[in-house]
Amino acid sequence: MRLYNSLTKRVEEFIPIEEGRVSMYTCGPTVYHFAHIGNLRSYICEDVLEKLLRFSGLDVKRVMNITDVGHLSSDADTGEDKMLKGAKREHKTVMEIARYYTDAFFSDCAKLNIKTPDVVEPATHCIDEFIKVISSLIEKGYAYEAGGNIYFDTSKLKEYYVFHNFNEEDLEDGVREGVEKDENKKNKADFVLWFTKSKFDDQELKWDSPWGVGYPGWHIECSCISMKHLGERLDIHCGGIDNAFPHHTNEIAQSEAFLGHKWCNYWFHILHLNTNDGKMSKSKGEFLTVKLLEEKGYDALVYRFFCLLSHYRKSLVFSWENLDNAKTAYNKILARVAAIQGEPAGEVDKAMYDKLMKGFTDALDNDINTSNAITALYDVLKADTTPATKLALIDEFDKVLSLDITANAKKLASQQGADDELPAEVAELVAQRAAARKEKNFALADELRDKITALGYRIEETRQGTKVTKL
Ligand code: AMP
Ligand code: ZN
Repeated sequence: MRLYNSLTKRVEEFIPIEEGRVSMYTCGPTVYHFAHIGNLRSYICEDVLEKLLRFSGLDVKRVMNITDVGHLSSDADTGEDKMLKGAKREHKTVMEIARYYTDAFFSDCAKLNIKTPDVVEPATHCIDEFIKVISSLIEKGYAYEAGGNIYFDTSKLKEYYVFHNFNEEDLEDGVREGVEKDENKKNKADFVLWFTKSKFDDQELKWDSPWGVGYPGWHIECSCISMKHLGERLDIHCGGIDNAFPHHTNEIAQSEAFLGHKWCNYWFHILHLNTNDGKMSKSKGEFLTVKLLEEKGYDALVYRFFCLLSHYRKSLVFSWENLDNAKTAYNKILARVAAIQGEPAGEVDKAMYDKLMKGFTDALDNDINTSNAITALYDVLKADTTPATKLALIDEFDKVLSLDITANAKKLASQQGADDELPAEVAELVAQRAAARKEKNFALADELRDKITALGYRIEETRQGTKVTKL
């Protein structure tokens, strides 16, 4: 399997550290508000990657944090803690906000068929681990105290800007606004590991530490939670492209300084979902959520399908028109599969199965080309082979695509069956006509037939009995 690695900026053969096993870490949500559908694009793409690895026979262990402390309004360690902002907005405690939006996040994920990672760990559960790693970084000379906070000293590294050679498009997406100057920092790029002094004294969650009562910086949580559950060497680290700098850059700096060796081999970054008027943002008032899509009549899986139609390394523009096109295409696939399900299945044709399966795996093994994988699905639908072959392939493809194709096609067919049922008025006239015929009252039977025709239905006598169809 070939995968683009942001660290080397090349598409590379993916080789896990331990044969047959993959350790995978995902930056989880900051749970101060609903996830927007841009956030969820990242989680959908990561879900496809995880499922593809499993599909290839690898044993994956995936870990995700929940950011419930330390993520400030600007990624450059300034501004108010986002969680506190959320709590103030809703007049609740930080923990109430965290619980509510964590549940909302996993409910959105369930609707989008995003598998819950094997381990989900909130940052607030790991304070001891953070203190241990920060203490070690101070001991090793990689961190210093200034103005009450503990900072990582980036000048101690041979190379800090590991993702810096992004092409321009990536860099544009990778920068967040609102950087204020922090006079305590020895170097511009230094970042906070532990806060005891903040302009925002009302920070709700604080813990005792060797450096005073305070709270952790955002970046340290991902390093520590990953190491806690996945050990000293990590195969794949995922996240949206905005996280490459500073968040992932800082994760690498502190993890490798602590460990004394390379930490993570492959970095998987997803480009952003944008709207026509720019970046998607939670601070913009009403923003796009799964709930909003549902209110407007879209199934969450239509959004998943929409995301799969484009490559994760390209920015994607959201518009209702684009979503409508995805909805039409998704429903057409379901209708075609429903028709195939209704045909006599026959036997699986092994040679055709292998050929069509290869089209699918080739697409995904080439840096997760999901749009080509969807083309491989269309190839199956139009292939000259048995329904059994097609249905078996569709079930296999859906282990990675997770679009509920088989189940939703069946639902569609049963809905159509229900639509084909006669309206009560017509059914009553048909029953009366049958009774009239039984009594050999043909004049009444003809009269009733005319009434049925006037209501838009044709009635015929066939060898199987009376057949009523829509005109
Ligand atoms: P956050 O909840 O802000 O910590 O972000 C959760 C995930 O969503 C991270 O992996 C971000 O990099 C990612 N993300 C943020 N904005 C977007 C976007 N517009 N499109 C895709 N991914 C995004
Ligand atoms: Zn992270």
